[in-house]
Amino acid sequence: MLIDFHTHIFPEAIAERSIAALEAGIRREQGADYRKGEALTCRPATLEGLLQSMTRSHVDKSICLPIATKPSQTATINRYAESVRSERALSFGTVHPADPEAEQVLDDLKQRGFRGIKLHLQFQQYDIDSPEVLNILKKCEQLGLLVVFHAGADIGLPPPVYTSPQKIRHALDFVRGDNLIAAHLGGWAQWDDVEACLVGTPVYLDTAYIAQFLAPEQCRRIIRSHGAEKILFGSDSPWEDPADTLRYLESLNLTAEEMALITHQNALRLLGA
Ligand SMILES: [Zn+2]
Repeated sequence: MLIDFHTHIFPEAIAERSIAALEAGIRREQGADYRKGEALTCRPATLEGLLQSMTRSHVDKSICLPIATKPSQTATINRYAESVRSERALSFGTVHPADPEAEQVLDDLKQRGFRGIKLHLQFQQYDIDSPEVLNILKKCEQLGLLVVFHAGADIGLPPPVYTSPQKIRHALDFVRGDNLIAAHLGGWAQWDDVEACLVGTPVYLDTAYIAQFLAPEQCRRIIRSHGAEKILFGSDSPWEDPADTLRYLESLNLTAEEMALITHQNALRLLGA
């Protein structure tokens, strides 16, 4: 069984436009030739496109992670997220740290049966250890909501890094951390800091969008020292094909028990399934 804990989809009307805008950001940050001509294999980044790519890659269930980049978008995005709830695809909700009603948004998401939320503080421009975000994290802990958050640098956004491993570590002085999932194995392009600050903490780490960037030896070392019971398979589809993520994980020569935890057992436990 394979559960992909980190995917992105958009309503059909805005999917192509949203992906094009994000790709423009990547070219701005990485140079105009960055991966030019390399088509994303999971396009279109719609529910339909995701379900098709899941069939191709033998993914049984995907968690979709929406992001409100402005508080005013929250209600619309969460209404759409609520419509994505089936055996094969389940969406988390979103909240913005600048929203004065953030706590009510979270109460409402809980009531509507959401299992968790996504934060992308690189877009939202709040440090993970800021009072606003800590309030959100504390409220989610109380409500039993999972929090997946972008961690480390972002390939398409300029510094500063709002969710560095150091800042995550500091946030853990205020919350338990066992409902938190730091994407990109704890800090995209900051994996030495992950080894210094995050390994061994209660936070879960997902494997989204690392296959092309993180040396397999370091990935294996992080998984082994953190514990496979706190690692979740995630691809970051459409940015990475889940089949590529799986191939990368298989190249690490982990045990069958570790692979079972990472590919589905941890996810089933967290989702309460
Ligand atoms: Zn992502």
